[in-house]
Amino acid sequence: SLSDRLTGVFDGLRGRGALREQDVRDAMREVRIALLEADVALPVVRRFIDAVTEKAIGSEVLKSVTPGQQVVKIVSDELVEMLGGEESVPLELEAKPPVVIMMVGLQGSGKTTSTAKLAKFLKEKHGKKSMMASLDVNRPAAQEQLAVLGEQIECATLPIVAGQQPVDIARRALDAAKLQAADVLLLDTAGRLHVDEALMAEMKAVSSISAPTEVLLVVDSLTGQDAVNVAKSFTEEVPLTGVILTRMDGDARGGAALSMRHVTGKPIKFAGTGEKLDALETFHPKRVADRILGMGDVVSLVEKAAATIKEEDAEALAKRMAKGQFDLNDLRTQLQQMNQMGGLGMLAGMMPGMKKAKAAMANSGMDDKVLVHMDAIIGSMTPKERANPALLNAKRKRRIAAGAGKEVQDVNKLLKMYQEMSRAMKQIKKMGGLKGLAAMFG
Ligand code: GDP
Ligand code: MG
Repeated sequence: SLSDRLTGVFDGLRGRGALREQDVRDAMREVRIALLEADVALPVVRRFIDAVTEKAIGSEVLKSVTPGQQVVKIVSDELVEMLGGEESVPLELEAKPPVVIMMVGLQGSGKTTSTAKLAKFLKEKHGKKSMMASLDVNRPAAQEQLAVLGEQIECATLPIVAGQQPVDIARRALDAAKLQAADVLLLDTAGRLHVDEALMAEMKAVSSISAPTEVLLVVDSLTGQDAVNVAKSFTEEVPLTGVILTRMDGDARGGAALSMRHVTGKPIKFAGTGEKLDALETFHPKRVADRILGMGDVVSLVEKAAATIKEEDAEALAKRMAKGQFDLNDLRTQLQQMNQMGGLGMLAGMMPGMKKAKAAMANSGMDDKVLVHMDAIIGSMTPKERANPALLNAKRKRRIAAGAGKEVQDVNKLLKMYQEMSRAMKQIKKMGGLKGLAAMFG
């Protein structure tokens, strides 16, 4: 796998410190091959390699991982980023009902199947009542196909009227959906074997008559490079809002996903993972990144190493505290770090012996919102006040509370916590640093 190959590139090289340019360039050769093998389009590969190279050269190698593992992590992070980040993007369902979702794509890409899958998904996950309409007048029996699927999932389909053109069907579907008080109207459009002008004209006409909230491009992930050209054509003609990648259950290696996101600039919202109507998943960039890299635990290993670094930071901070140098700036940095690391819950999962500490926090009503509030309070202090909390008299506290949209008692709570932390940190120092603390909690 790519992850093995990457770590392999760096095998002879156990040196610590920053990643060297030549090593990074060697590693990128492997990344390039792997991406091409995964069917990522060439311009996308180039852009990806540039981005990763820039990040990797000169970056520090964390203790307890090898340079190769570090590079795998950088590659993985960038893949996730290019696939749309950590979060999946939900459908826009807040518009005035019936919310119109228009499905577009080539013939055989999986539009009709995905239409039915979505109707089922919307019913089960969002409690939405959908109506489906097939605008495919090209293929014989295309409209019947949707009607059969509708029966299977118990979702209304627009009655078939022979000889009607797509735009007229769309109009009739809108009326029917309103009449039936459907929350969502799913328009399953016709495809062609190739993108052509007639198809694009039809898509434009249907889109302007039905004013869709979502226009989802359905793409077969197995078509790899071809998918890119299809996506380009559709992007230029209709206002796409997202992509559904079908046949992710096949042996596609995820390359289409990377290309698709890059070419359309639109989020991949769902992945089709089989022929059955429940085989539709919210798209998770992380999973596809893992698939492209074909890696095991390298990423989590590096993440753990990063957590260890934070622990060392904390140790340095404890020293400052013990010397009486800990001020509200330090507290703020701490709060922000905790937030970055995924809040209190994540922190507890990551740090050894934090279980009891977490339970204690939960009992005292401390949650992640509290972190944000405290950050806001410190944010509305002047630099002088942060460096010297003793300055905070009643008048200043009122000003700070107002600035943060909080009460004076919230400011007092924060100061109390700050004092307790200062005291606790001095204790910890006496007991042998954070490791002593961990032993105590564990
Ligand atoms: P359309 O021409 O775009 O409407 O494509 P269809 O929805 O009719 O699908 C064409 C074929 O692909 C059908 O046999 C579907 O069962 C199959 N199909 C659609 N989505 C998926 C998927 O995610 N995985 C698999 N394995 N097959 C799929
Ligand atoms: Mg169809």
